[in-house]
Amino acid sequence: MNTIRAVLFDFDGTLTLPGSIDFAGIKKAIRCPGDRPILEFIEGLPSAADQRRAWQVLKQFEKQAAWRSRPNKGAEELVRFLKRRRIRRGILTRNRHASVEMALKNFAHVRLADFNVIITRDHVQRSKPDPEGVLLAARRLRVPAATLLMVGDYRYDIEAGQRAGAPTIFLESHLTTRRPDPPADFVVCTLSEVADIIDRLNRGRKKAHQDTK
Ligand SMILES: [Mg+2]
Repeated sequence: MNTIRAVLFDFDGTLTLPGSIDFAGIKKAIRCPGDRPILEFIEGLPSAADQRRAWQVLKQFEKQAAWRSRPNKGAEELVRFLKRRRIRRGILTRNRHASVEMALKNFAHVRLADFNVIITRDHVQRSKPDPEGVLLAARRLRVPAATLLMVGDYRYDIEAGQRAGAPTIFLESHLTTRRPDPPADFVVCTLSEVADIIDRLNRGRKKAHQDTK
């Protein structure tokens, strides 16, 4: 595997503590079937008025969730670790920029400015699991996708990373109902394990390079 030059994080449930967004509640409120993804369901609603109403409901839920959200365990330490190692940092979310901004205010040691790129659903034609956002992040961060580590708590995060050719880490929690298939390169239970994985990958690489000298 390549040296890791950047890390792209999913936001809700990855950098924030899982459970603050009530996906089941949103689906119920906009009458989205349980097995359909919310954004694509709204985009497919037949009338503009129905779409407008559903977007409003979704935004309200997202706003409340952002207010409530807290940093995930190990998230702030990991972002600071990456800064120290000069590994670039990005966020890729199906949420809105305003939600990310609001939620990050509940963090003590990490700010918006600690991320080199933030890509939300407003920046892409097709959200995760489409690889568009990952590829856009790689371009903006000026790194090849194969050196951009995608970290997320939902199968769409992993699928988007895989389709972009990026290495992936799946963050499992008590809310995980289904692991990604095909599986992520790594599965972790806490974000603190991510720093160890990066260290192992980057150190191993450096050593292999030295050995061939
Ligand atoms: Mg998530």
